[in-house]
Amino acid sequence: TVKNDTQSLNEKDRENVWHHISPYNEKNYPMIASEAKGSWITDHQGNKYLDAMSGLWCVNVGYGREELARVAYEQMKKMAYTSMTQSHEPGIKLAEKINDMLDDDYMIFYSNSGSDANEVAFKIARQYHQQNGESSRYKFISRYRAYHGGSMGALAATGQALRKYKYEPLSSGFLHVAPPDNYRRPAGMSVEQYNLQRAGELEDKIIWEQKETIAGIIMEPLITGGGVLIPDQVYVKEVEKICKRHGVLLIIDEVICGFGRTGKAFGHKHFDIKPDIITMAKGLTSGYLPLSVTAVRKDLYESFKSSEDNSHFRHVNTFGGNPTACAVALKNIEIMEQENLTDRAAVLGNRLQQELEELRSHPYVGDVRGLGFLMGIELVEDKNTKEPASAERIGKIIGDCKTNGLIIGKNGDTVAGYNNILTLSPPLSSTDDDLGFIIDVVKKVFKENEV
Ligand code: PMP
Repeated sequence: TVKNDTQSLNEKDRENVWHHISPYNEKNYPMIASEAKGSWITDHQGNKYLDAMSGLWCVNVGYGREELARVAYEQMKKMAYTSMTQSHEPGIKLAEKINDMLDDDYMIFYSNSGSDANEVAFKIARQYHQQNGESSRYKFISRYRAYHGGSMGALAATGQALRKYKYEPLSSGFLHVAPPDNYRRPAGMSVEQYNLQRAGELEDKIIWEQKETIAGIIMEPLITGGGVLIPDQVYVKEVEKICKRHGVLLIIDEVICGFGRTGKAFGHKHFDIKPDIITMAKGLTSGYLPLSVTAVRKDLYESFKSSEDNSHFRHVNTFGGNPTACAVALKNIEIMEQENLTDRAAVLGNRLQQELEELRSHPYVGDVRGLGFLMGIELVEDKNTKEPASAERIGKIIGDCKTNGLIIGKNGDTVAGYNNILTLSPPLSSTDDDLGFIIDVVKKVFKENEV
């Protein structure tokens, strides 16, 4: 009966639910997930899969946490929702907690998604410049291959053409430069030289565009969804210097990298920088409820503090920072601290990286790289030319992993074939056995796909 039931759900799903980009064909129904615990998802037919993508890089503390369900229940009974015109204890405590984690002084603006948080960052940056007499500064620079969200501004900041070109015109004033992609750097160039060159190109862009027109730069500490591109330390430090030199705000998108994923509380902590604005979502609640944050340096906030009505930040968001989501976020962070999940991400990530290093000798593996519990395996047809692996080859490996009970991701740019990076980003709460399972399945599947 479960089987029949699944068939009927599949059919109703196909009839009524509009999924995102997954192509439909006769055999390819989306999995109907019905339960999840720890790192494991069970589908409607009782098959179990280890979710080595944490949903969409989200479920840092793992699935099925009763503590989070309880806190949501208690808060909903007490007061599920208030409008943004009221404040509430969970929101106040959470803002304080995030500042503790940042080890710095930021003002915390709440909304519901990563895209929202980035839109808020753009609006705040533009208004900030206006209120400081620099109203010509309206442009943002981001990097090709980066993903910053699906709404018109966040999509404009996104540097993946295939996600954008059918939806134009998007918000105007968004420019792009190439990110460092160390694996594909020119032969004979050191990583440091190459990263400095890329930073130099960013500075050139600012100058050629007229620096008085640039409001901000938005970037992730490392490009995640664009294919796990980890910059050298010098790049990020140099970008910070360039921003300062030209009066440009540095916006760091921590939507994926935040909350322990990279083995530190926030990804930018690897690079010893102080961003002007930081956006967060996903791991903030481990995906249990929608919530996001735009954290703005306190001294920038000064220009919004005037009693003049005209200097207020005009942005209302009905669900933003609702008490239930904030209470869940606080509990989520408490779990991360009690279970030392940020340190655990570093430990698990190191082990995974060490074990998967051996894949480098596989005929189609060009590169293996990662930071914390976030790994990318770049597949190529030819190790000399670095031609990206075919969609068939990549699809086969992902499909074989799934057949063996392991869900992994595929990322990269979606043009020019660079969608060839397999990604692993499991819950930070994964057990040693979970890790062993991931390693065993990945090694087995690669072995079976050597030709
Ligand atoms: N920034 C980054 C780095 C992301 O990966 C994402 C989502 N994958 C977003 C922003 C947008 O977040 P959301 O889907 O919650 O709008």
